[in-house]
Amino acid sequence: MAASQKGDLSASERKILQVISAGDEQEASQLLASKDVRVNCLDEYGMTPLMHAAYKGQADMCHMLLQYGADVNCSQHEYGYTALMFAGLSGKTDITSMLLDAGAEKNLVNSVGRTAAQMAAFVGQHDCVTVINNFFSRARLEYYTRPQGLEREPRLPPRLAGPLHKIIMTTNLNPVKIVMLVKEDPVLVDVVALEKCYQVMDMLCEQCVKQQDMNEILAIKMHYISCVLQKCLAFLQKQDDKLDALVMNLLRGRDSDGFPQYQEKFIRDCIKKFPYCEATLLQQQVRIITPKEIGIGNDPTAFSVLNQAVTGQMTFVDADYCATCGEKGAEKRCSLCKAVTYCSLMCQKLHWFTHKKMCRCMQEQDADPEMDTPRLKELKDDESDLVMETANFLQELCLRAEKQVATAGGCPAELLACSSTSAEGPSCTHD
Ligand SMILES: [Zn+2]
Ligand SMILES: [Zn+2]
Repeated sequence: MAASQKGDLSASERKILQVISAGDEQEASQLLASKDVRVNCLDEYGMTPLMHAAYKGQADMCHMLLQYGADVNCSQHEYGYTALMFAGLSGKTDITSMLLDAGAEKNLVNSVGRTAAQMAAFVGQHDCVTVINNFFSRARLEYYTRPQGLEREPRLPPRLAGPLHKIIMTTNLNPVKIVMLVKEDPVLVDVVALEKCYQVMDMLCEQCVKQQDMNEILAIKMHYISCVLQKCLAFLQKQDDKLDALVMNLLRGRDSDGFPQYQEKFIRDCIKKFPYCEATLLQQQVRIITPKEIGIGNDPTAFSVLNQAVTGQMTFVDADYCATCGEKGAEKRCSLCKAVTYCSLMCQKLHWFTHKKMCRCMQEQDADPEMDTPRLKELKDDESDLVMETANFLQELCLRAEKQVATAGGCPAELLACSSTSAEGPSCTHD
């Protein structure tokens, strides 16, 4: 097929651009099937039909164009925009994922040096930013399902690639959710399988750090998933309960306010154990969340720091997240207290053993309107103590890492690894 020059369009090609804008799939399909339309033709601005479809948010149209061989990385646009940038601008996460799956290069920059993720962030399409930053191709994981070099067996049995890839692609980092994803697939609830999976995650983490365009976000995510898988492994070695005890530990709230301490400590520990000092992302995140700036609506638990580092999104206390698994868009409420939301009945049932202690106190709070404000305030005070504690801990961690780099001129990894041996202490006395 002849290479297209900008603006050099046949009548049918002009027509298909209109048809795409109008969203008429049937006609687009007919035009594509005719020989008069080059799927990568360029309009006068250097936009391909795929770019138009992505910008207009037409997912089915994008799918069809890709099937006809649309070049997902065409960058003849006058300002260097790619189809992925247009998808990010449109805010459509389904199109963004589709283009990434089709091989869209996420590091290409436009004429002002911005990537697709940066363009999406610029216009406030944060869900697309998350999708782009968290994308990891299945092919990269499947590399480990084939024996390499002198290996007699692959590092990852092929049957584990699918379920593990699903976990890698999750944008919900709630540890309960990740354990649920493990539980969902019986092949993963197995000591040998978990061991292989976490070892591959560690290798991927190292790869993300060492590759030329170091990807801190994915490195931290891979490390975190490895930690959760190792935790699953440890519980499975102790008892054959299909990880129910682990889920309960992660959900159990402390008596005073229902805050899940075990979960907080677990995530802090994961952050502490991150082995590569070259990554400055966590340090940056910690600086953003300085104790001074903690106010209403901010809740810098270790989870929210991790979540913001990896997904780029803030976790708001009041948003409709499932109290059990952290899934967004939870629409069911506890019918007694109406204060907590769940995504499903199963999640509510899982949470009840610990929520019932708080549920009554929340009802009392509701019952007396006079008490409402002071009571709320009191809870907030408790919360901000913990918030301060976490922020101080993270800042200390950050300062220590910096100090270490400054004095040794090297890597604080050793120090970070060291402090992880004090698994139960939330604050780090190591010096
Ligand atoms: Zn849930
Ligand atoms: Zn309740």
